[in-house]
Amino acid sequence: MTTAPTASGEIASGNTASAHNEPDLEPSRVEQRRKLVTAIPGPRSRLLHERKLSAVSAGVGTGLPVYVERAGGGILVDVDGNHLIDFGSGIAVTSVGNSAPRVVSAVKSQVDDFTHTCFMVTPYEEYIAVCERLNALTPGDGEKRSALFNSGSEAVENAIKIARVFTGRTAIITFDHAYHGRTNLTMALTAKNMPYKQGFGPFAGEIYRVPMAYPYRWPTGAEHCADEAFEAFVSQVHTQVGEQNTAAVIIEPIQGEGGFIVPSPGYLRRIADWCCQNGILFIADEIQSGFCRTGDWFACEHEGVVPDLIATAKGIAGGLPLAAVTGRADVMDSVHGGGLGGTYGGNPVACAAALGAIETMEVEDLCGRARQIEALFMPRLLELGAKFDVIGEVRGRGAMLAIELVTGGADKTPNPALTAALNAYCHSQGVVTLTAGTFGNVLRFLPPLSAGHDLLNEGLDVLEQAFVASL
Ligand SMILES: *Cc1c(COP(=O)(O)O)cnc(C)c1O
Repeated sequence: MTTAPTASGEIASGNTASAHNEPDLEPSRVEQRRKLVTAIPGPRSRLLHERKLSAVSAGVGTGLPVYVERAGGGILVDVDGNHLIDFGSGIAVTSVGNSAPRVVSAVKSQVDDFTHTCFMVTPYEEYIAVCERLNALTPGDGEKRSALFNSGSEAVENAIKIARVFTGRTAIITFDHAYHGRTNLTMALTAKNMPYKQGFGPFAGEIYRVPMAYPYRWPTGAEHCADEAFEAFVSQVHTQVGEQNTAAVIIEPIQGEGGFIVPSPGYLRRIADWCCQNGILFIADEIQSGFCRTGDWFACEHEGVVPDLIATAKGIAGGLPLAAVTGRADVMDSVHGGGLGGTYGGNPVACAAALGAIETMEVEDLCGRARQIEALFMPRLLELGAKFDVIGEVRGRGAMLAIELVTGGADKTPNPALTAALNAYCHSQGVVTLTAGTFGNVLRFLPPLSAGHDLLNEGLDVLEQAFVASL
């Protein structure tokens, strides 16, 4: 779609009618079109940013300092009145869209009833209802239990606690390029030093890192990646850790912050089977990849893997802070009473939001919608890849897609400078993109599943212009 200046000089997209088959997405109360009325960031955002710099710790960064006033569908509206296309969903959180109607009404009614009691003091039904939904929706037919927390990091920490109690072992296996959070234990699990770990040690012990099956960068070529990565995994755990000491292997079925790395087909399955043979728990960190994002409820379903424990957060509650560990009943129930919990874990307002978000995913078939988004994005990204040899690889699944940027041609040297330039160009044109990757050379796309076809196409038009402008 072309962009045309309007009488007021703003950039606005053309028609909003879609000729494509879209599921019945709830109409958003925010006008679904890109509109730039000031430079990005605009004057009001700049003023707020000055306040930010003098009030907020410099340690808390912002990728794009436009300050948001309203949001819905695939659009963020900033305080200057700019409408930006959202290709990030607040890092895969607002998959159902911002302020999705069912989330808003569930939250409003819960806030009217009560806001907090602490589930460990005087419990309430909403917590149980979320656990029931999680037990039913996660892979595996066996009996399951769940426990609720506030953040993804907290869910990962608790999955490790549970695995250690159940197995009576301490060692945890994690992977190159992994990201599991920013608390002490999860920093130890996370691979990348800058900015996540630098200066924050010492880190928790009994964490061991093994190579990731990263097809694009596997030294002997993608075709050898699955076998060789699996052999390296088995051999390193055996020689450096000992199977009998290993409580769990934790892995993101598609790695997130590490660069949207999709492991070679079959790799996850082999790791999970090997864990099972060795009395080691397989923990899937589906915090970024879960809740319809990849076109299935959970990314490990695509590989036919049933994890022993699964950590979820981000997309679970339409923007409210909630996280969970779900898994085998015998594992989850092995923990002594009072061993798991927290003041706010499973807050009733967050639980109500999760019930509204999950209902939205079901009613609007957002797994199907994620597959439609893949069908829209993939051909266009591949077309860009054919045109611009700095795109080393196009990868991902559903609405969790990325391009890895390199020096060009056969040279796979990471190109973080170009990645930053493309990202900055998209931002300046009102498209909120995110970067990722151990080498800072991945541009990732995580649009809300509620975003319309035309809007997404327009965002991709801007991405194409970014290459022309940056190369
Ligand atoms: C975001 C993320 C986390 C950490 O979640 P927080 O809510 O930020 O603590 C853990 N694992 C993965 C895969 C993530 O994407």
